[in-house]
Amino acid sequence: MASFSPAVYNLKTTNAAECLKETLARCYYIFAKKGMDDRTYTHLSARLPGEDAYYIYPLGLLFSEVTPSRLIKVDFNGNILEGDETIFNETGYVIHSSVYKARPDINAIFHLHTTAGVAVSSMKQGLLPLSQFAFHFYNRLSYHGYDALNLDTNNQGINLAKDLGPNNKAMMLENHGTMTCGQTQEEALFYMLFLEEACKVQIAALSAGIDNLSLPPKAVCEQAYKDMTAFEKGNIGKRDFDAECRVTKFPWEASA
Ligand SMILES: [Zn+2]
Repeated sequence: MASFSPAVYNLKTTNAAECLKETLARCYYIFAKKGMDDRTYTHLSARLPGEDAYYIYPLGLLFSEVTPSRLIKVDFNGNILEGDETIFNETGYVIHSSVYKARPDINAIFHLHTTAGVAVSSMKQGLLPLSQFAFHFYNRLSYHGYDALNLDTNNQGINLAKDLGPNNKAMMLENHGTMTCGQTQEEALFYMLFLEEACKVQIAALSAGIDNLSLPPKAVCEQAYKDMTAFEKGNIGKRDFDAECRVTKFPWEASA
């Protein structure tokens, strides 16, 4: 996973699980601060590489209420290994377990219902390659048809992982929202923030009418994807995550 840097994270521990929980709680708070949460209805999770269990918030909290110590650890069968839950989060567990099972390369899964994300998830044409934000996902964005939340939880999870496929790290959940993944949490955050901006741009640009939009040639879009990926060396998203942390006062931090 990511090489953790206590100096940057301002942590007193290099314990991998503690670093993971601190990072996850910070991601919840960063999304809350940006207004990208949806009360208690979406979820972020992360796991230590290779583990058949992951950390997630207990259903019922707002993103802004999440702290490292409030996170719970859940195995792939929905058993709570650490922490306390008050409400069983079946939908959340199905989504996260299925993707982790299918994709050993993924250690973080973020799912949101932002207005922009839900709006584009409902568009027949999907995400258009209109902006640099969107080029990050060119030919690499999966789609999952809306199948309600609780009709058939087992198959829903399997189908969701199947639709994500073996390589993609972002998916539109049609009529529902967005999901991004990463080898690290920083990478999942990176893709979620770019996907959000891409969706916002698309909604704004569509005010001109879809026939008036200018889309770059396919080869240019593909090259843009490659160039932007090459620009991000090593741990994708760490630079941006560290920058967010530098300007964010996390409520659980001791006042200095
Ligand atoms: Zn959802």
